[in-house]
Amino acid sequence: MKQSMTLIPTLREVPSDAEVKSHQLLLRAGFIRQNASGVYTYMPLGRKVLQKVEAIIREEMNHAGAAELFMPALQQAELWQESGRWYSYGPELMRLRDRHDREFALGATHEEVITSLVRDEVKSYKRLPLTLYQIQTKFRDEKRPRFGLLRGREFIMKDAYSFHATQKSLDEVYERLFQAYTNIFRRCGLNFRAVIADSGAMGGKDTHEFMVLSEIGEDTIAYSDTSDYAANIEMAPVTAVYEKSGKQANELEKIHTENKKSIEEVSAFLQVEDKDCVKSLLFKVDDRHVLVLVRGDHEVNEIKLKNFFEASVVELADANTTKEVLGCSVGSLGPVGVGNVEVVADHAVKGVVNGVCGANEEDYHYQNVNPERDFKVSAYADFRFIKEGDPSPDGNGTIVFAKGIEVGHVFKLGTRYSEAMNAVFLDENGRTQPMIMGCYGIGVSRTMAAVAEQFNDENGLVWPQNISPFDVHLIAINMKDKEQAALAEELYANMKTSGLDVLLDDRQERPGVKFADSDLIGLPVRVTVGKKASEGIVEVKIRKNGEMQEIHKDQLAEALKTILQEL
Ligand code: ATP
Ligand code: MG
Repeated sequence: MKQSMTLIPTLREVPSDAEVKSHQLLLRAGFIRQNASGVYTYMPLGRKVLQKVEAIIREEMNHAGAAELFMPALQQAELWQESGRWYSYGPELMRLRDRHDREFALGATHEEVITSLVRDEVKSYKRLPLTLYQIQTKFRDEKRPRFGLLRGREFIMKDAYSFHATQKSLDEVYERLFQAYTNIFRRCGLNFRAVIADSGAMGGKDTHEFMVLSEIGEDTIAYSDTSDYAANIEMAPVTAVYEKSGKQANELEKIHTENKKSIEEVSAFLQVEDKDCVKSLLFKVDDRHVLVLVRGDHEVNEIKLKNFFEASVVELADANTTKEVLGCSVGSLGPVGVGNVEVVADHAVKGVVNGVCGANEEDYHYQNVNPERDFKVSAYADFRFIKEGDPSPDGNGTIVFAKGIEVGHVFKLGTRYSEAMNAVFLDENGRTQPMIMGCYGIGVSRTMAAVAEQFNDENGLVWPQNISPFDVHLIAINMKDKEQAALAEELYANMKTSGLDVLLDDRQERPGVKFADSDLIGLPVRVTVGKKASEGIVEVKIRKNGEMQEIHKDQLAEALKTILQEL
């Protein structure tokens, strides 16, 4: 491709509304342009990256046994009403009416469309399992579209859906697609982790998110410093074991602690450590109240609480309710003498000796509190968030935290949609069964932005070779110089015949502009035709590390192939 024939509108200035690197650089290097909030045009360079990412996805999905189809973005409301999501999806679903006043949605996802398709076309176990996928534009009216392509309102997704007669078959396909996802993100060059995510059930292997490690990520990942264990921090179980120290239990004492409310204030005042305090929090668990205890240096994990009680709603009781139920403010809560609500505690509380807790009385705390002797709990369980330094739940290594951008999601749906929409099949014994389903998404446009986020330097983007819009940036310093122009054209033609994807900067621009644009765009290799054109010598520069060498045109094609292979 010649630069004079395409549109790469680079910008010198950092656009003021772009907060993160990927957004700034994709705009500045002319890969995308914003049309409306969260709505973008993929410019020719951006389009090429997307096509390369899509090609990798197609290869891996096809290899994993999935078949590509293409479903409508315009979806009848009736289907969403059948699944119930017309009512539960909320304002993120873009809704509209046709000229006959019929309601439609713009596809935010395609479970409804695919389930209705497969229920009509597949009737027997003999046609299962079946995995179908598409790469398509999705619409979600996000509350906060931001960071450019990372959270758009119109974006490109690869979504796949699998249908099964048995759970075992779902498990097998899930495993295969998990591997395909691993291959896809690896081939895109990303530094990522497959993370155990929240499926609503604890510890299950029923859903994983693929997270690209990045400081701007919205999710926190807890991962092992030695093994490949990684989980959303909400999901990571705590496996630390707590024993009481041999210390002798002292007599319980009530102490005046005026205006000392937080754990930090109380522990500083009483000169104890946070871990010697018992933090007590009153929660509303569905329609009752539960007092939850964790050690002062730990935080309650509401998802674990919710799962433990198999509750649908868990929330912290407000100040008024706390006063009503336990007769004091939030900062003075404690378990001693509590009889009117259930008390549960995190395992770590078991190990507390001579601890400190609130006395359920304004400005008073107890000291030398000992579990079992001074208060009873109905259950000890894992109720806290994992912390950095905790042992990894798989028994290998220590937990560290990182932030992540979710680029993919694999999920065992079960029969949620097939039951609601009556997608059934006849099993071997002629019995009617709901199909068991899985769904698998990749944010294609988000993946492109995630790569831009991970691969850049102060001069611009640095594309991994597999998804770079072109392999080589060929630059003629002075297109008015006949020799340079001729050599550039000759090399351009040769590279194309030898299978290299090459972008030729044939513009009449100053060399400084050409080099700056070239660094900004970030193709893996730059070939510059300059003063030594008459000798047939060009300069080859590797974008990633700045290494330069001079090469004769006769050796160029071979040299470039070797360089690109080694990148
Ligand atoms: P998020 O928590 O980021 O909102 P999600 O859980 O809503 O994501 P899914 O419904 O699982 O996402 O969609 C599958 C994939 O689509 C995600 O893993 C992500 O990569 C991508 N994706 C989701 N929402 C957006 C968006 N607004 N813009 C770009 N990509 C998105
Ligand atoms: Mg979302």
